Amino acid sequence: MDPRLNPPPPHAPARISWMLALPKLGVVLLVLAVISLLWLLHRNDLEEQKASLIGDVLWLEQNLRFHLSGNEGQLQQLALDIGSQEGRGNIFRLRGLHLLKTLPELARLNLMDEQGQAIDTLPVLSATPSKPEYLEMFEQAKALGRPSYGRPSLGPEGPRQTLLVPIFRHNRFTGFLLAELDLDILLRNQVPWWFAEKYRVRMIDDGGNEYATKSKVAGTPSLNYLLPLDPPGYGMGLEVTAYRSADITAQRILAVAIVGLALGVFWSLWAIRKLIRSRLTVEAALRQEHAFRQSMEDSLTAGMRARDLQGKIIYVNPAFCRMTGFSAEELIGHLPPMPYWDPEEIEETMALNRAVLSGNAPRDGFEINFRRKDGSPFRALIYESPLIDGNGEHTGWMGSVLDVTEKRRAEELARQQQEKLQFTSRLVTMGEMASTLAHELNQPLAAIASYATGCANRLESDHWQAEEIRAALDKLSKQAQRAGEIIRRVQDFVRKSEPKLQPCCLEDVIGDSLALVEADARQHGINIEYQRSEPLPPVLADRVMIEQVLLNLFRNAMDAMAATEAPLRRITVRTWQQGSEAVVAVADQGCGLPPETAQRLFEAFYTTKPDGMGIGLSICRSIIEFHRGRLWYEPNTQSLSGQGTVFAFTLPEEIHAHTPSPSGR
Ligand code: ADP
Repeated sequence: MDPRLNPPPPHAPARISWMLALPKLGVVLLVLAVISLLWLLHRNDLEEQKASLIGDVLWLEQNLRFHLSGNEGQLQQLALDIGSQEGRGNIFRLRGLHLLKTLPELARLNLMDEQGQAIDTLPVLSATPSKPEYLEMFEQAKALGRPSYGRPSLGPEGPRQTLLVPIFRHNRFTGFLLAELDLDILLRNQVPWWFAEKYRVRMIDDGGNEYATKSKVAGTPSLNYLLPLDPPGYGMGLEVTAYRSADITAQRILAVAIVGLALGVFWSLWAIRKLIRSRLTVEAALRQEHAFRQSMEDSLTAGMRARDLQGKIIYVNPAFCRMTGFSAEELIGHLPPMPYWDPEEIEETMALNRAVLSGNAPRDGFEINFRRKDGSPFRALIYESPLIDGNGEHTGWMGSVLDVTEKRRAEELARQQQEKLQFTSRLVTMGEMASTLAHELNQPLAAIASYATGCANRLESDHWQAEEIRAALDKLSKQAQRAGEIIRRVQDFVRKSEPKLQPCCLEDVIGDSLALVEADARQHGINIEYQRSEPLPPVLADRVMIEQVLLNLFRNAMDAMAATEAPLRRITVRTWQQGSEAVVAVADQGCGLPPETAQRLFEAFYTTKPDGMGIGLSICRSIIEFHRGRLWYEPNTQSLSGQGTVFAFTLPEEIHAHTPSPSGR
């Protein structure tokens, strides 16, 4: 798996982390702000509730006090009337009953004498309180001369509060009125409904005992206020408790909803953060993938060009731009005819373009002439294929373009060389055969000539016999047939002698060639030395042809040393390996090459020798080039005579050697 395609997830850049952290911070701050706001509202609410509670309690307390003092006033008036008028029993009964009716909390009213003995009680048949209970306040009321409250009690009849009002007659204490107030009824009547809707009101003493209560609400108490109640005193107090209203519940629900929503936002942010992170990872992987594809595209040597279905260029790669010389901006969006089309072949190119766009492009590609922006022509090999997008739809055509100008030029050169080689190899053979032919034909021709001369002499001598002449003509004809045979053989040989390349050991070829010229060299007093440096790799060659080259070089070297002093007549053959080629050098210490000869050295039929043909070196070069090698010369700098030439050639190793078809096909 290519690590470039599956990179490890990169860390989000610091800026993006910051950007991701900001909303989180924002949400936390928002939640804190909302909680603070709710807390502040709650506190204000409590404060307000407390203030309104205190206000309400004070109002209630005032109301109670006002009511009790009203009661006191009415009882005092009754006591005054009883004390000032005759028939106190009647007045008590009459007014007492009226009071009982108007004051609902007045449970019982007693008329007592100065000894504290009950004289009368309203309503009738109700029991009188026992003396010790009010004795203390009796003394107090008597001493002060004004109404006095007793300690509240929780008797079997319910919570009771006593009020003692002294009765004076002509400033003399004559008894008192003892009123018993039912605290429950007092509270029930004096606490209005709206108050009971909001609060629970309790009358308690300092021991926490409850005397009366009124409430219409239920729930959890939130605020509590205790106010001492005087009258009656004695540690009595009014406890008012506020209960949490529905508003608070609604507030709570609201707060919970807000916190819930904030949590939801937080969660969604978290999810978005995860999503962004995974997106960033995917983006980074995509970027790498894109960069990898881009580098692949940029390093492509083949030109790529995409066109839509109308033939408009939608993409070109850098190689295509380099090939045509036009920039991508100049090409993208261009419709046919394209700026790189050859103006001289517009019609043909247009026809090919139509074939491509209609899906009839040659499957194996096609070649076409294009022109670069600078006007220079080049040959392009194009393969067109349909462009299929991610949805599997055919959206255009993708073409890969190869510049095959050099390839075609090399092929043309090779073809020309092949032709030349065929011509020269025939010439070689012809050259070789010419001497053989001359030699072989010499005999029959000489015989024919002598028979012809003999016949002519005979005919001139006048005493010739037809038999003799016929026999001579027969022989002449046989000789002519022999000459014909020789020529046919030569023709056959010429026809068959095509180059045959096969792996061969160059050292062996050199050895064989040396053996052929050794005798001749000895005769001319020439010393041939073969210096081999290292074993050479096998080469792919036509052994006979290479032998011909070597023989020609040896013969030239020997000819060049014709005028050289005898001890300096030496030919040195060296071989070595150079890269993937084998090099053979033949050095002589001969006359060297004057510039005019050097210039025309490889020209056919150029020779400086009286009996030379001048085609040896040109044939040698053709043979070596046919073998994909090089033939060159240079002055022999190591020559002891100070002159001399080195002819050298290379042959590629067998594995690198190209095997052209000898027939050129
Ligand atoms: P030929 O040997 O028939 O003249 P070549 O093509 O082999 O034809 O040689 C052409 C000419 O090149 C020769 O006539 C000779 O003047 C010159 N030449 C070839 N080899 C040598 C050499 N080793 N030293 C000097 N001159 C040479």
